[in-house]
Amino acid sequence: MNLRTTLDDGVTDPLDWPMLIGGEWVAAADDSWTEVTCPSRDGMVLARVPDGKAADVDRAVQAAAAAQPAWAGLHFKDRQAALLKIADAIEASAEEFSRLTAQDTGNAIRTQARPETATLIALFRYFGGIAGEFKGRTLPAGDDQLQYTRLQPLGVVGAILPWNSPLMIAAMKLPAALATGNALVVKPAEDAPLTILKLAQVCSEFLPAGVLNVVTGLGETAGEAISQHPGIAKVSFTGSSQVGRHVAGVAGKRLAHVSLELGGKSPNIVFPSAATPERIEATAEGALLAMRFTRQGQSCTAGSRLFVHESVFDEFVEVLAEKVKALKVGDPLEEETDMGTIINETQYRQVCDYVEEGKQQEGVRVVLDGSGYKPEGLEGFYQGPTILANVDNSWRIAREEVFGPVLVAIPWSDVDDVVAQANDSHYGLAAFVWSQDLNEAIETAHRIDSGWVQVNQGGGQVIGQSYGGFKQSGIGREFSLEGAIESFTQTKQINIKLG
Ligand code: NAD
Repeated sequence: MNLRTTLDDGVTDPLDWPMLIGGEWVAAADDSWTEVTCPSRDGMVLARVPDGKAADVDRAVQAAAAAQPAWAGLHFKDRQAALLKIADAIEASAEEFSRLTAQDTGNAIRTQARPETATLIALFRYFGGIAGEFKGRTLPAGDDQLQYTRLQPLGVVGAILPWNSPLMIAAMKLPAALATGNALVVKPAEDAPLTILKLAQVCSEFLPAGVLNVVTGLGETAGEAISQHPGIAKVSFTGSSQVGRHVAGVAGKRLAHVSLELGGKSPNIVFPSAATPERIEATAEGALLAMRFTRQGQSCTAGSRLFVHESVFDEFVEVLAEKVKALKVGDPLEEETDMGTIINETQYRQVCDYVEEGKQQEGVRVVLDGSGYKPEGLEGFYQGPTILANVDNSWRIAREEVFGPVLVAIPWSDVDDVVAQANDSHYGLAAFVWSQDLNEAIETAHRIDSGWVQVNQGGGQVIGQSYGGFKQSGIGREFSLEGAIESFTQTKQINIKLG
């Protein structure tokens, strides 16, 4: 297979990238293909991928089911060795993965694409390293009994991925499912499948045929087929709450295991002690990071509702806006670029509509308006960052996931009230608390209804942490040893009478 890994602006005859089923690189059964376009190059066609459907998912499930028992039957050291070799091989071509991410998703190479590749490598190493920890327990049941548990794989896992950071989300699912002895059928998002095909190519060098399969295609056909297929024991879904609810319904109906990593509208609470003259710069930097501006706000954990104490509100918003203004929006492949592009036209228009609606609200203050911004000489779904101040938590722009570089700032005066506002959301994925008073910070962190709360920092997930949402942000946990046990194993109890 000839995978393109660098962008050639003159290309008019895009390469076809087949998908991986049973160790073979194949087209869809009906030989239909879809184009993958580059969001930072005015929709230039990067490649064509198979438009996989139910027949292809079925083929992939058969291949996975055939390969899984032998994979699960290996000594854990063999699975570990394979995962560690995969990590080394990704690392050897890390720059190609990062460049392809920048082209496929529009995420800037320095600020986003390279860190995503680094997380992928780190998670293959992490789950390779702990492959021997998926073990059972023995009961002290007397000399005439041997009573123990085994953590067994679920079988064939269907992994459905979003487009916003495909390698990072794949990294949360693939190595954990593989380390625990499962086989996989992976469906990348239609907008950004190329890095997942490249990952499959690397994995296929070190895994037995059929253990990892990738079916490209649309959500309503290939994705739906994964949720429905009786041979898929578990659906691990990351995407929007709307689609996640549907997937859970379809897979739940046949009593398949389901885990859901969904959307968010995460609160970011700034106390006065975090905005003193000594702290204000660092807190503003942290809030910028928490908002994931450098991923164009296309992050489920974006701290997009900024609650700032009224005593420091104007000053804090001003300091933050100066930092955000300094971000360079541009070609994702350029080193100096901080922010790349929105993924596609639909998403771009949706973000513009949210901003327009937010700007019309009575009392709103437009601190920064990035809608309609175009870097000179570039055509693509570029958009500048937007900050709206004096927003009310009840407005649509404060309640719904914009999934764009749009931050709303809300003043507060009473701690009980700000906690109530933070929790007044159907989402509960992440949260951020900024305070130099440890008691205040920890008490607030404990009161927030979110699966993940950070205090005085705004960065991304740390390898091995618990990760997953409360409320409509999801069900289940991934990323950690406990998450992998919960998500990708089932317990069997064995009771033996001795003597
Ligand atoms: P999406 O829900 O539109 O699509 C996600 C995946 O589901 C895609 O592969 C899509 O093809 C597939 N899909 C669509 N319809 C389907 C169906 N009927 N059956 C099965 N699969 C189907 O989400 P998106 O636009 O790709 O990604 C953005 C969303 O993902 C945002 O809401 C974001 O918050 C969320 N997200 C969550 C996390 C997390 O860890 N919680 C991480 C990244 C993204």
